[in-house]
Amino acid sequence: MNRHIRAALVLVLMVTVTACSPRPAVRYVTVSEIKASLPATPVIAGFDIDDTVLFSTPGFYYGLANLDGPDGKNKYGSNPLGSKSFWNDMNGQFDNFSLPKASGRALIEMHSSRGDKIVFITARDSSQVSILPKILAQSFMLSNPAIVFTCNAPKKDFIAAAHVVIYYGDADSDMDQAIKASARPVRVKRSPLSNNKTSYVNVGGFGEDVLIDSEN
Ligand SMILES: [Mg+2]
Repeated sequence: MNRHIRAALVLVLMVTVTACSPRPAVRYVTVSEIKASLPATPVIAGFDIDDTVLFSTPGFYYGLANLDGPDGKNKYGSNPLGSKSFWNDMNGQFDNFSLPKASGRALIEMHSSRGDKIVFITARDSSQVSILPKILAQSFMLSNPAIVFTCNAPKKDFIAAAHVVIYYGDADSDMDQAIKASARPVRVKRSPLSNNKTSYVNVGGFGEDVLIDSEN
């Protein structure tokens, strides 16, 4: 066989094999199934906040899109997420407009019923004023919720330091960091209305369980 023809055949075979390799099926689970999979004794459950337990797009949308600064520009400058003033407003006021997710409520209720300790680990910046403890307490019937602000640092060390056994998040980075911290990652789906479109390309691709119908 002519070696050009042979090379072409090998190429066609490779493309066919690649195209036909099935992606592993995404493993969807219910809250009851997660509960049944947990140890009998209480564990520490970690939660991301934005798009996992709170639909906080309203505040982030204003922070990123407003034109209320001088000369019709963004009042938080060209990099709102790097602005202290933005985080003071986001953590201090805008969470009044964040909606608790039904899936977050179901998860937290399940963990609370088991007597598990709940800790929130968020990449948000900390701020002088924060209504987050109040919002999380009211939304999820928690007293004095523990919140760790990583200020955009990777979450791995914080998840490990808090001895988190199971970590819920919406982002690919949440799954990655949970795995690196030797915690079990569980994916909560992001609402299609979220204005955060980053770090969300590999749902189920980390081998994590994905909470079914968790967009809301
Ligand atoms: Mg998130």
